[in-house]
Amino acid sequence: MGEATPAYERVDFWNLIAQRKRGVPEGWRWFSIQGKGHPAPREQCTSIVTGAVCTATFKSGPRKGELNWAKRDRSTERELAIPFPEFDAFLLEWEAETGRCHNCYGNGRAFDRVCYRCGGAGKAPTAPQPAAK
Ligand SMILES: [Zn+2]
Repeated sequence: MGEATPAYERVDFWNLIAQRKRGVPEGWRWFSIQGKGHPAPREQCTSIVTGAVCTATFKSGPRKGELNWAKRDRSTERELAIPFPEFDAFLLEWEAETGRCHNCYGNGRAFDRVCYRCGGAGKAPTAPQPAAK
């Protein structure tokens, strides 16, 4: 509807942290995320991220082409406990690495609004800023 195509694709940080910090097999993707620990303070909560490698897709029917998780490679199934503080730190690490805002992936807009985190600039608020004149 007239919206410009975002310059950057959405990043799935759960898959990324699983690959980089937990060493999951190539092609691994999460299929379930559960928060544990509520209503404790956020820094004491953990996400249980479950995933596997799945390449099987539905061959027919309304879900044709979608992944058929029932046929996942169960030998690659892993349940990862990722504490919220570790996830939050990972987002900042990604921002430092890419210079992009993690909330909008660098597009300046998220959920059809100006991104609250970067104010629409798409730049990581945590990245080193040029020295003020
Ligand atoms: Zn942003």
